[in-house]
Amino acid sequence: MLGWTEEEVIGRHSGDLLQTRFENSSREDFCNKLLKDGHYLGDLYYLCKDKTYLPVEVNVKKSDQKGKKTSILASIHDISKRKQRDEKLKRTVDELKRSNKELKRFAYVSSHDLQEPLRMVTLYSQLLEKRYKNSLDNDANDFINYIVENAKRMKQLIEDLLEYSKVTNDAKKFGNVDLEKVVDIVISNLSIPITGNNVNITRKNLPTIFADENQMLQVFQNLITNAIKFKGKKHSEIHISAKKEEGKWIFAIKDNGIGIKPDYVDQIFEVFKRLHTKEEYPGTGIGLSIVQKIINHHGGRIWVESEPGHESTFYFTIPIIND
Ligand code: ADP
Repeated sequence: MLGWTEEEVIGRHSGDLLQTRFENSSREDFCNKLLKDGHYLGDLYYLCKDKTYLPVEVNVKKSDQKGKKTSILASIHDISKRKQRDEKLKRTVDELKRSNKELKRFAYVSSHDLQEPLRMVTLYSQLLEKRYKNSLDNDANDFINYIVENAKRMKQLIEDLLEYSKVTNDAKKFGNVDLEKVVDIVISNLSIPITGNNVNITRKNLPTIFADENQMLQVFQNLITNAIKFKGKKHSEIHISAKKEEGKWIFAIKDNGIGIKPDYVDQIFEVFKRLHTKEEYPGTGIGLSIVQKIINHHGGRIWVESEPGHESTFYFTIPIIND
């Protein structure tokens, strides 16, 4: 395996000949472990005759039989293929981490830096409107209006993007979160649209989970806001429930609103993806992307099932960590 001939090997100490390099351990560890536990399993590098090092897995067992000399049984596996795969995987993970960090930074910096020039556009077009409204014709006034309106919309989009880029998976903020309480807060936050639209919200079996409380609040608030916003002509009913299944909670938020056509059930989670004009339903299309990002950071996933014209149910999972 290493290219040495019998003559070169016989009579030599393996450590000298093979110049064993240990990975995450040392010769001392190796000896101690072997003496203490009677076995050793680990990855090492051995010198080959062509002066390269071969990664191997060694599995050594010591045997002490009464009346016999101590013997050692060792098996050695060439693990260069596995090492290459591990290396490649590590490189890919590092690259992904780096590009993810870059992307976060990019989204944050660009949305942050876009705000200032936009403020100027809004300010000066409003000033233009104020000062010259009477000396301009109707067309010019309309044009100014478009600028102001669109600058406002762009401001909203930038703020949303900034909000999206700020969602982090900061494990420090995780704790036990009572979702009954979270939904209470959401219902109180949304009391105006709930009473205004005569919405009936029911719930069942909401557990306490290990999560980020603020983010859970955002998730429920976004999903319930949408369920109210995209209500149909019928009296609006929203039902929130949870069930435990194979190491995770599955939550469901069901409404009897306008529903979503099957072609769009995946797209609606993309940033700024909307299925209606802002005149039909207000919004920018960031809500579900934020919800998805939060759920993914919690190790779960989100999806929707819908019957267009009748109902939608948004499902999401959260893994159960300390049950
Ligand atoms: P926004 O509400 O600002 O449009 P979201 O990201 O929250 O942005 O939602 C994206 C799109 O998904 C919405 O524009 C709408 O078309 C669709 N949608 C979301 N929730 C519902 C729902 N409960 N019923 C029907 N359609 C929905």
